Amino acid sequence: MPSRKRPASSARLDRYRDKRRASSTAEPFGSATSIESNAGGLFVVQQHRARHLHFDFRLEMDGALRSWAVPKGPSADPADKRFAALVEDHPMEYADFEGAIAPGNYGAGYVIVWDRGTWTPLNDIAEGWRKGKLLFDLHGHKLHGRWTLIRMKKDTEWLLIKERDDLARGADYRFPEDSVLSGLSLADMPDPASAAKQLAKSIKRYAPPKLKENRETPTPMLASSSANPGEAFDRKGWIFEFKYDGYRLFAEKSAVFTLF
Ligand code: MN
Repeated sequence: MPSRKRPASSARLDRYRDKRRASSTAEPFGSATSIESNAGGLFVVQQHRARHLHFDFRLEMDGALRSWAVPKGPSADPADKRFAALVEDHPMEYADFEGAIAPGNYGAGYVIVWDRGTWTPLNDIAEGWRKGKLLFDLHGHKLHGRWTLIRMKKDTEWLLIKERDDLARGADYRFPEDSVLSGLSLADMPDPASAAKQLAKSIKRYAPPKLKENRETPTPMLASSSANPGEAFDRKGWIFEFKYDGYRLFAEKSAVFTLF
């Protein structure tokens, strides 16, 4: 198989970045790097409890993670074809991401690394991509053997299918639910909204001092005119300055706690 080195443009990650704010999510914002385009590489499956529970299936391609959202997750049964919606490419660093996505952010909820390993293409990736059929081996903790991704009529609609081999299982087989990184499952994660409420409640128990804002506008000392500047001072050592026209600005500084 010929392998071509080509730089993957970071523009590939524009859709990913457009959906996220670096200031409010812990998710990575990495760059796409250049790799051997026919080499396969890393694969990761993340389980993601956002508005809907789903799995995100990602294959390293051209230096970024090509990604599909799989509502029901992978099935080890070849008869059980799983719908997979092609979504935006993710940065390579996303393969390590596990934890909370704070409320208000895109995909807010929890993510665990459900499986991870390497994938080996069994057909030419570029050609397979064009034709809409990727055949590959997975070497993960949970997912093994031969798998296929097949594109349907729409560009974004694919099927993830376990190919028949020694590693295929029956319809009743269930994969373990825990993270291959931490051993945690999504069931161990608190609901982010109630976690924030819980935190606010426990802080109240310690009766933190209430912030006092000075709502009354202080009266500024006004400049007065005098024919003889020396008369304006009733104490030695005072200095004076010219009164320039402009705006008066009052500022008040105090400690502020933000709970989210
Ligand atoms: Mn997701």
